[in-house]
Amino acid sequence: MFDNFNLELFGHLMLSNPPSPILRDFQRQKLYRFEEARLQMHPSNQHLSLPECTALARKYNPRIKVKDGRGRRHAGASFQDNLITLPRWARQTVIVLHEIAHTLVDDRKYPHHGAEFVGVLFALLNQESIGTIPELCEAANQSKLRYDRNWIYRYPHQTRRSARL
Ligand SMILES: [Zn+2]
Repeated sequence: MFDNFNLELFGHLMLSNPPSPILRDFQRQKLYRFEEARLQMHPSNQHLSLPECTALARKYNPRIKVKDGRGRRHAGASFQDNLITLPRWARQTVIVLHEIAHTLVDDRKYPHHGAEFVGVLFALLNQESIGTIPELCEAANQSKLRYDRNWIYRYPHQTRRSARL
């Protein structure tokens, strides 16, 4: 069932109830463009095998489930199921961190790619040496991409319970 499975492009279309206005996925395309233009060519963005993706994911979310999404068009993540799904193209550091971040930010409380999500993503990118926090924030400012500074520093202390174990 796809009910609580957030496909990157079609997530909200598949939900049985429309999201409340406050949870509108207002900057999804902007974030995708930002990742393509600013992050994916970074030298620390590496191609990874599926076991390497799993090791990376468990560093930040010890109980995460990583599914082989071979043949799927879109990468996916579910906060509720604590699960990410990775087609071959998505097995690169930036995309894996993006999907991990979805398992750390509850999309029933915060917009799917909102400022809180981007804050957690920046914390993970910084941990993996894909830009410093000041560099990422400056790039985001130039792209008018919203991020919540509190959530950059919130990780790993107050995100998912399993991430604290
Ligand atoms: Zn996403």
